[in-house]
This record gives sequence, structure tokens and C-alpha cells, in this order.
Amino acid sequence: MTHLTFLGTGDSLNPERAQSSLVMPLPGEEAMLIDTSSGTVLLGRLEAASIPLESVRHLFVSHRHFDHVGGLAPLLTALVALPDASLTVHAASKTLRALRGLLDLTIPGAEDWLGKRLCWHELVPGKSTEVGETEITPFLMDHGLECVGFRVARADSVAVLAVDTRPCSEVVEGASEADLLVHDTYGPRSATERAHAMGHSTATEAGEAARAAGVRHLILTHLRSSRFVDADALVAEAEAAFGGPVDAANDLDTFEF
Ligand SMILES: [Zn+2]
Ligand SMILES: [Zn+2]
Repeated sequence: MTHLTFLGTGDSLNPERAQSSLVMPLPGEEAMLIDTSSGTVLLGRLEAASIPLESVRHLFVSHRHFDHVGGLAPLLTALVALPDASLTVHAASKTLRALRGLLDLTIPGAEDWLGKRLCWHELVPGKSTEVGETEITPFLMDHGLECVGFRVARADSVAVLAVDTRPCSEVVEGASEADLLVHDTYGPRSATERAHAMGHSTATEAGEAARAAGVRHLILTHLRSSRFVDADALVAEAEAAFGGPVDAANDLDTFEF
């Protein structure tokens, strides 16, 4: 049994929640991050979750939209001041290139400040990477630009993170028999057309993916603000399509799997 903690659960413009990021513990008091939220809010959420900055040794990035990568420059800048800190950034090729370009534009010199303490690792969809007794397998999703989901396996526990994506067969395959599926949810079924136009999925589609993949527990995230969606209604809709347990994640929620 292990766990993950949501640092941000909002969509790109949700002012009530932080943007997408979650953290998982690694052996030896270390941690890995998946996505970085949209800015300095990441640093506050890590502190609120009692995760020391220098314990974050690995960062996996799904894609280059600002609500997933905006926290990278603040994170690296904060790590510079911590002599024992080091970080490996894992992303697929175009995302990795974009991240380095973003740093060069917005905080030139940061790569030199960290020197060998900062490593870049290119992910290849379908090929596993092992980090602290944890196997992470990226798989391509349907979001309109290079975007990967992650299948995270440790001992007998599997969590799958599918944010951001339209419904697609790759998610169902990647999430096969997982203990936990964390899935993009733009809105209710009535917003299907808009969800797909924006590169996202509805609550019904998240539930259908969970059922087709045979997962044990579905968690909805990447939620729009309460002006637009009712999280409880999204959960009810996803449960009806899934037939299993569903939760809507809130910032700083922890789930075991
Ligand atoms: Zn996106
Ligand atoms: Zn997003």
C-alpha cells in the first residue's frame, strides 16, 4: 500500500484550486512530483503537505501547458538555495525541449546555477523508467499536443494518472486493472462537445474509461471552478458510468492505493 497527495486539482483557469500537480513518496524520505501546477502556489502546497523541497528528487511532466509546467521555474529557483537538493526532470521529447526553452526565456542561467544537480531525462512512450522501487510507464494520450499519462507501479500497487486527455483507447490500455485511476474531468455529459474541443473528457467518459479498464477506484481531477461545475454531480455521473467508487479530488487530499 502506498499513497499519493494532490497538490493542485483545478483546471487551467480555476481560481479556487491550485493547478495540476501531485506528489508521491519514494523510499528514503524522498518524493516524486507529477506536473508542477502554475506558479509559486506549488511551493506553498508542498509546504502545506509537509514535503520538504529538498526531498523532491524526481519530476515527471505530462505536457507543456502552462497549468502543468508553470511551477518549474519557481521550483528550480528555490532548489538553487538548498545545497543538498537535486532534481531529475522526466518528460517526452517535445515537452522536454519546451521546458528547457521556457527556462531559458524566463529564468536564463537557472540550468547553470544547479549544474550537475539538475538532470534531464527523455521519456519514450511505452518504455518504463525506474525510480526508487517504482516503475513509471508513460503512454501517449489525446490532448491535441504531445501529452502523456503515467502508469505508476510499486510492489503490488498501481496508480494511473490520465490528465489531460480526451477519451482514448490508450488510457483504457494504460489503466488496465489499476488500483487507482486519476482522470481528467472537464464537466458533465451535457458539455461533451466543449470538453472535446478543449482536449478534455466528461465525467461520464472518465467513468466509462474506469469501467473498461477494470480499475478499482476512480478519482476526478482538473476541475473547473464551482461557477461552472458541481463536483458532487460529476461524481454521481461518473459513478453511474463506472459502477464503482468515485471521488472528486480536492487540493491536499491523500489517497491510498
Ligand atoms: Zn493541457
Ligand atoms: Zn491542464
